[in-house]
Amino acid sequence: MDWQSPVSKIPYVGGISARRLERLGVKTVRDLLYHFPFRYQDYSQITKIRLLTPGADAAVQGTIIELSNIRTRGRKFLTKAALADESGAIEAVWFNQPYLSRTLKKGLKIGLAGRVENFGGRPGFVNPEFEVLKEGFPPAHTAGLVPVYPETARLSSKWLRNRIRSVLDSVKIAEFLPREQIKRYRLPTLPEAWRMIHFPASFKEAEEARRRFAFEELFLFNLRSLRQRQEWEKRRVPLKISYAEHKERIDCFIANLPFALTGAQKTALEEILADLGRDKPMNRLLEGDVGSGKTVVAAIAAYLTYLCGGRTILMAPTEILADQHFQTLKVLLEPYGIKIALHTSHKRTTTEPSRDNTGIQKPKEEAESDLWVGTHALFYKKGRFERVGLVVIDEQHRFGVEQRAQLFQKAKSGITPHLLTLTATPIPRTLALTVHGDLDLSILDEMPPGRKRVKTFVVPSQKRTAGYQWIRQQAKAGNQAFVICPLIEKSEAESMRQVKAATREFETLAEAMPDVKVDLLHGKLSAKEKSRVMDSFKRGETQVLVSTPVVEVGIDVPNATVMVIEAAERFGLASLHQLRGRVGRGEKTSYCFLFTQEESPDVFQRLKSLEKIANGFELAELDLKRRGPGEIYGIKQHGLTELKVADLTDAEMLKIARDAAQDLLRIDPQLSSHPNLDRELFRFSKALVEPN
Ligand code: ADP
Ligand code: MG
Repeated sequence: MDWQSPVSKIPYVGGISARRLERLGVKTVRDLLYHFPFRYQDYSQITKIRLLTPGADAAVQGTIIELSNIRTRGRKFLTKAALADESGAIEAVWFNQPYLSRTLKKGLKIGLAGRVENFGGRPGFVNPEFEVLKEGFPPAHTAGLVPVYPETARLSSKWLRNRIRSVLDSVKIAEFLPREQIKRYRLPTLPEAWRMIHFPASFKEAEEARRRFAFEELFLFNLRSLRQRQEWEKRRVPLKISYAEHKERIDCFIANLPFALTGAQKTALEEILADLGRDKPMNRLLEGDVGSGKTVVAAIAAYLTYLCGGRTILMAPTEILADQHFQTLKVLLEPYGIKIALHTSHKRTTTEPSRDNTGIQKPKEEAESDLWVGTHALFYKKGRFERVGLVVIDEQHRFGVEQRAQLFQKAKSGITPHLLTLTATPIPRTLALTVHGDLDLSILDEMPPGRKRVKTFVVPSQKRTAGYQWIRQQAKAGNQAFVICPLIEKSEAESMRQVKAATREFETLAEAMPDVKVDLLHGKLSAKEKSRVMDSFKRGETQVLVSTPVVEVGIDVPNATVMVIEAAERFGLASLHQLRGRVGRGEKTSYCFLFTQEESPDVFQRLKSLEKIANGFELAELDLKRRGPGEIYGIKQHGLTELKVADLTDAEMLKIARDAAQDLLRIDPQLSSHPNLDRELFRFSKALVEPN
C-alpha cells in the first residue's frame, strides 16, 4: 500500500466505509491523511480516580474489577464496569453497545475518557471513550491530545483515528517539498507533519504541522501561478505594436480628451504601453475602483493597436455593459477613424451608418471592424481572430479567470494577443500578489478630480418608511435612484429566488410611491426588455430602478444620485462599495442608504465603516479580517478558497511561500530536479480546477 492507493486497500475499510469516505472527498490513502482534525480533545493529563469531580472532562486509566451486562425492562442493553487505579474506583456505564462484552473483560487494563457525571452523589462515566491498553501501543483515544474529525458522513472520530493510525504506521510517504525549503523555514517533513497533525504530543506540535501544511498549500499555489506565467511568457504576439512610432498621435489623442488623465492613469498607461512594445504578450490586470477611469486607459491601448494595424476585442460580462462600452468607445475613438462593432448573442451593430436609408452605403462587415465589443458570446464566435493584437476583458468580478484560460487554450500555435483585464474588485494588498501571481498589476488608486464622496448612511428598519419618503422626494425633484435587492445566499434556485425578491421589492416600492415611475430589472428579462428598461432609466423617464445585485449594476447613469441597498448585511464591504460607486458620477451630491434586515451591534458596526471609508482597498482589507477570504469577490474564482489550511490573513506566510516559489523556479524553472514536487504540483493544480 502506498499513499496513492485507494482507501479500500486499508485494513477494515469495506465498501460501505469507502463510500462514506468518498462523500468526504477521501478516495485515496493520501486523501485520508489530508483529512485533518478540526480540534483536539485534551486528555494529556491522566487523572487519579479519587480526584474526579462531576462536570469535568477527564481521562483515567485502571483495571476492570467488575463487569456486568444487564437487560433493562425497557429491553435496553446496559454494560456496567467498575474501574480501579491505585487511588480508588469509579463506575462506567454504556447503553446499547452489546459488542462491548466481547472487548471488555474483568482484569483488563483500560483507559476511559469523557465527561464525568454525577451518579447519585458519586462521580461516574456514561458512554465514555474506552480503549484496551497494551504494552508498546500508546493509547489513541483516551490519552494525550485526541484528534476530533468532522463527523459528517457517519464515520466516527474513533474509527477515523484507528484507520489513520494504521496507515501512518504502514504507508511509505515521500516528501515532495525541496529539502532546502524545509530546512530554511524549519518545517517538519511530511511524515512528521502527518503524525503531528493527527496525533500531536502537544498543541505546539499541532501548530507546527499546520504551519507546514499552510506553507505547502501556498507554495504550490504560487508555483502554479508562476509556472503559468512562465508558459505565457513563452508565447509571442501576432503583430508588432510600437508606441514610439505613434507617440505623437497618442499624445494628441490624450490632449484632446475632455479631461486630463490622473497621475494613476498615466502610470498605468506607461506600464501598458511598455508591455505592448514587447514581443511576448502582455498579461496585465488593471485594478481600480468603480469610476477610477479604466475605460479610457483601455481605449488608448486599443487606439495604439489600431495605429499599428491590429484589431482589439473587448469583452464585457453582460450585454448592457457591452452596449455601454460600445457607446463610450464610439464617442472616444470614432473621430479617429476607428470602426467599432457591437457583438452580443442578441445583437450586432456596426458604427458605420447606413446613410439615411438611402441604401447607398451598406453596413460595414464586422470583419472589417477595428474594435469588437461584446459579451463572452464574442469569444465563442466561429470566425477567426485575425489581426487581433489586444484583448481587453472587463471582468467586473465575473468571468476574467475562465476567459483568460480559454484564450490561452485557443492560442495553441504559441501566438497570443496582448491581454488586459480590467477589474473593480479590490483585492487586499496583502493578498494581491498571491491571488494574481500569474499577472502583472497596474493599480488606479486615484479618482478623477471633482468626484464627491457619496454620503452614506446605515438605516435601521424603523426608519425605513421615512427613507422611502425621502427617496420619493428626491425622485420628484428630478433625481434618480437605484434600489438593489437582497443578495440571496447560494441555493439551487438562486436566480429564480433573486427574481422573486426583486419583483416583491418592486411591488412594494411602486405602491409606496405611486407618483413616481418605478421599474424593474433582473436576469430573467429578455435582452430586449433589459435594454428597454435601461434606456428609459438612462433617459430619465424612470426615476427608481429596482435591480438584482450583480447582474446589471455596472451601468453609468450620471443623473442617478441615490443608491439603496436592501439587506446590506449580506454583502461584503467591498461589494457594497462597488455598488455605491454607481452613484456620485455627476455634479450633484449623492447618497447611499444601507438598509438592514438583521440588526446586531456587530452588523451595525461593520456597515458603519462604509460611512467613514471611501477606499475600496481599505474596505477589502477589513472584509478579509472580519469575514475571511470567502467574502472577497474574485478570490473564489482564483481557487484560493479551495485551500484548506492556509490562513489568508497571515501576510508573513503569504510572503514566505511566494518568495520560496520564486527562489526555486529561479534555480529549477522546469522542476526537473524536483520530480516529486512536479508531480504534486500537477495533482494540486488539477484539484484546484476540479474540486470534488
Ligand atoms: P471605471 O474605472 O469604473 O470603468 P470609467 O472608465 O467608466 O470608470 O470612468 C468613469 C467616468 O470618469 C467616465 O465618465 C469617464 O469619462 C470619466 N473619467 C475617466 N478618467 C477621467 C479623468 N482623468 N478625469 C475626469 N473624468 C474622467
Ligand atoms: Mg468600467
